[in-house]
Amino acid sequence: MPSNSAAKRATKKKREPEALSEAAETLSFEAELERMLPPDLPHRADVVAQAARHLELVVEVNRHLNLTRVTEPHEAAVKHVLDSVIPWRLFQGARHIIDAGTGPGFPGIPLALVFPGTRFTLADSTGKKARFVESVVEQLALKNVQVEPRRAEELTRAGSFDLITARAMAPLEKALDLFGPALKRGTRALFYKGPDAEREIEEAARQAKKYGVQLRVAMRYELPEGFGTRTIVEVTRAPR
Ligand code: SAH
Repeated sequence: MPSNSAAKRATKKKREPEALSEAAETLSFEAELERMLPPDLPHRADVVAQAARHLELVVEVNRHLNLTRVTEPHEAAVKHVLDSVIPWRLFQGARHIIDAGTGPGFPGIPLALVFPGTRFTLADSTGKKARFVESVVEQLALKNVQVEPRRAEELTRAGSFDLITARAMAPLEKALDLFGPALKRGTRALFYKGPDAEREIEEAARQAKKYGVQLRVAMRYELPEGFGTRTIVEVTRAPR
């Protein structure tokens, strides 16, 4: 049996490298983001520092909760943060944005860092995910973000939102069914999609007609170093 203080030393020993590696992790997230984020991104320095902290929290909690497969610094910086902020210009001018199915906080947290003057609601129907995002919002002291552990379509039905966004949440056909009532009233949507967006747009034709909306590819971009093609699909009310 080791003495009490030996046990303490052993725990301490175990903890130190972990604390060190967490600090190193934040640094490497910061270095990756500093290197990868667009040079003209608004509030860039804050986005780099705060998004690095967010990624660190994701990695930390991911050891117990399975939130994402992507935790290696370079891949996480590109697939989570860079992908979230590349289309930032399309979000300009919105006053209240809902991120439907935010999961660990993407694209909602990075976008909220780019637009600190815009209100964001981050919704996820899975309680543990919403609780995690809530803790991120507290630790980053984000004053413009509210987290809702609810189904996004319930929130948009009542809603004061002028923009709905979502990444990897539902095929367009299903997204139109969920958000059709809000879109019909004139709320705009920007959906993050993979390379096959055109096929999804075609498959959503019936729903588009039903809700009186039109879909178009608003932006297409390549993530660097072969991480894939992304498409942003914009949904707006069709002119009568
Ligand atoms: N947007 C994140 C997570 C995608 S996974 C990202 O790109 O990394 C999809 C998430 O949507 C899950 O966390 C799931 O709990 C949530 N979700 C699915 N349907 C939902 C709904 N109707 N309302 C709110 N959240 C939903």
